[in-house]
Amino acid sequence: MTLRLVRRLFFLGLGVGAPLFLYGTIGDAGWALWLGLGLMAAALILDGIFWRCPCCGKYLDRNFFASYCPRCGEELDYDQDLRGFL
Ligand SMILES: [Zn+2]
Repeated sequence: MTLRLVRRLFFLGLGVGAPLFLYGTIGDAGWALWLGLGLMAAALILDGIFWRCPCCGKYLDRNFFASYCPRCGEELDYDQDLRGFL
């Protein structure tokens, strides 16, 4: 798992989940509403668990394209494997 993968999965979850949720509410399709809600919830949970600085382990806020960690100031490597830090 890398920061780049976490970011992609987060945007994918919200990008697919939000339109499904809207379709579910406007089009009165219960399956789409719950699937959309589930995808958005999964994206937020994934973000909360894995969107962390590989150096200090603190949460990286909402700037998904930051070059430096807002907490410790370390340069972020989006391709670094996060396994050793969790
Ligand atoms: Zn940091």
